[in-house]
Amino acid sequence: MCASGIVFCMDAPNSLPEPKTLQEAITYFADPDRAFQFAKGLRWPDGNVVCPRCGVAKNSFIKTRRLWFCYACKKQFTVKVKTIMEDSPIGLDKWMTAFWLLANAKNGISSHELGRALGVTQTTAWFMLQRIREVMKGRKFGNTTKIGGSGSEVEADETFVGGKVRNMHKARRQRFVKEEGFAGAATGKTVVHGMLDRNLRQVRAQVVPNVKRETLQNILLKNIKYGTKVYTDDAVAYTRDMNWRFVHDFVNKTESYVKGRVHVNGMENFWSLLKRALRGTYVAVEPFHLSRYVDEQVFRYNNRKDEEGRKITDAERFATVMSDVLGHRLTYSDLTGKSDSPHHAPTGTGTAQVKEPL
Ligand SMILES: [Zn+2]
Repeated sequence: MCASGIVFCMDAPNSLPEPKTLQEAITYFADPDRAFQFAKGLRWPDGNVVCPRCGVAKNSFIKTRRLWFCYACKKQFTVKVKTIMEDSPIGLDKWMTAFWLLANAKNGISSHELGRALGVTQTTAWFMLQRIREVMKGRKFGNTTKIGGSGSEVEADETFVGGKVRNMHKARRQRFVKEEGFAGAATGKTVVHGMLDRNLRQVRAQVVPNVKRETLQNILLKNIKYGTKVYTDDAVAYTRDMNWRFVHDFVNKTESYVKGRVHVNGMENFWSLLKRALRGTYVAVEPFHLSRYVDEQVFRYNNRKDEEGRKITDAERFATVMSDVLGHRLTYSDLTGKSDSPHHAPTGTGTAQVKEPL
């Protein structure tokens, strides 16, 4: 039994050792049969292939084309149907390599880098990455439930990212401020707020409009259970009118960085990981897109260790993303309410691209 269990222990005809590097991942998934079997196994783990369109399990498999014909709705379907890969002409092999890379590259991966690795254009690579980030966002841990709880410790903190808004075209900047309501836009900074549940070792982070008391405390109220020990810095936003709801304590960052267990070092660590990725790989992330990069970093952070503190392997992280892609069956249109095939180069201000280094 290999460590990753589910994924790389299948009775695949062309077994290779679990990929550990980019090159190995490319080689591993370059075999169309292996990529296909792999995706099929994740999508229909019990082997019972069900039509993604009508839900009926009566079909015949056309081996030469790796697709099924559904007897109920009389349509063909592939393993990509009803997933974010559905309307993309990019093969499973390339998609899987991309999933592998983004799930495991500590500092992220630029669209230039991915384009070169896969032999696709930078634009195509960029759209692939954005779709994968959407999947990662879907996994944001327990979005519907609150974190913390009696006896639990949660760190809450915020950080400022970028400064590119000032360089934006005037009309675009105004639209940005109007649509997004980002007060940070005026100062050229975007605010990201984050919370770390120390017991679960999980972070929840999001782009927020400003650092007003109302904004920040609302996030805490929405996300953190009653009775949680909440640790923050001594920003006014947190120090006033907080104690009625949580057991709250704060640390003065300038004087004593750490006050026993009362500190936000865990969040500081997360911010430095996020900023390293943003600086190193994504040179100029526009505020529009920042939330996707935050989601990506949150995904990798939350999938570093399991609840027992065991290190999660690259293969497992990859399987997690792939299961979400194939299991949730969300299309890109479902996720965004619009379609954006890689063939449609972005136009206008709404779909501006991230500038990345060559
Ligand atoms: Zn059908």
